[in-house]
This record gives sequence, structure tokens and C-alpha cells, in this order.
Amino acid sequence: MISGSCLCGKIEYEISGQVGDVVHCHCQTCRKAHGSAFSSVAAVDDNEFTLIGRDFLSFFESSPGKKRYFCSNCGTQIYAKREGTKHLILRLGSLDDDPTSKEKNHIWVSQKATWYSINSRLPVCQEFE
Ligand SMILES: [Zn+2]
Ligand SMILES: [Zn+2]
Repeated sequence: MISGSCLCGKIEYEISGQVGDVVHCHCQTCRKAHGSAFSSVAAVDDNEFTLIGRDFLSFFESSPGKKRYFCSNCGTQIYAKREGTKHLILRLGSLDDDPTSKEKNHIWVSQKATWYSINSRLPVCQEFE
């Protein structure tokens, strides 16, 4: 079991399966939502994700059909969900355990912050792959 939680601890979750490959997203929406240079995310199957403490879970629909879920008490981004998919997009900074996932690539580098340099052996994609 892989566990994660928000900063204040009101939201916790457990993953019973695999965490997908790690993608670093540099899109402007991720930068704003996370207040950081990029967001590191990975797919998790809906059926293998259990949320504990839903009371403080809030969301923002950042584009039509895509909701970004976060803790309304402390602001930690937990996951995003696109309508009609069977997986969620976990925000890896909220993990407490090692997901043992492989890093895959950097995406949406066309929207990268000018003040951040990518020094990485990973593939760099201008948009989504
Ligand atoms: Zn919290
Ligand atoms: Zn993004």
C-alpha cells in the first residue's frame, strides 16, 4: 500500500496498485495551481485509490471537464480528474511513500517558466508528448 496526505493531514489516501510513470508538467495551469515551476504527476487507477477524509476535498474546474482536487484547509493539490477516464492524475508531492515509479518526461515545455532551466536526461516535449 502506498500512502499520501495533504499538508494539514485532514485528507489522506491509499493506493493499492501501481503508480504510473512520472510526468513533469510545465503548463501554465499547473504552474499556477501548484505555485511552482512545474507539477510532477502520475496516473493511478480509480479502483485502486481510496480517499480518507473527503470533508475537506474541494475542486477547481481548470478547463471544461478537468477538475483539480485540493484540500480546502491547507491548499495541497491531491489529484486531477478528467471526465470519462478511469484513472486520476495524482499530484506526487502529496505522497508519503516511494511510488517506485519511473520518470518519463517533461511536458508542455512550450509554457515553461523562463526562470527555470531543465537539466535532465529525460525527453522534453513542447506539448503533451
Ligand atoms: Zn489539508
Ligand atoms: Zn500541466
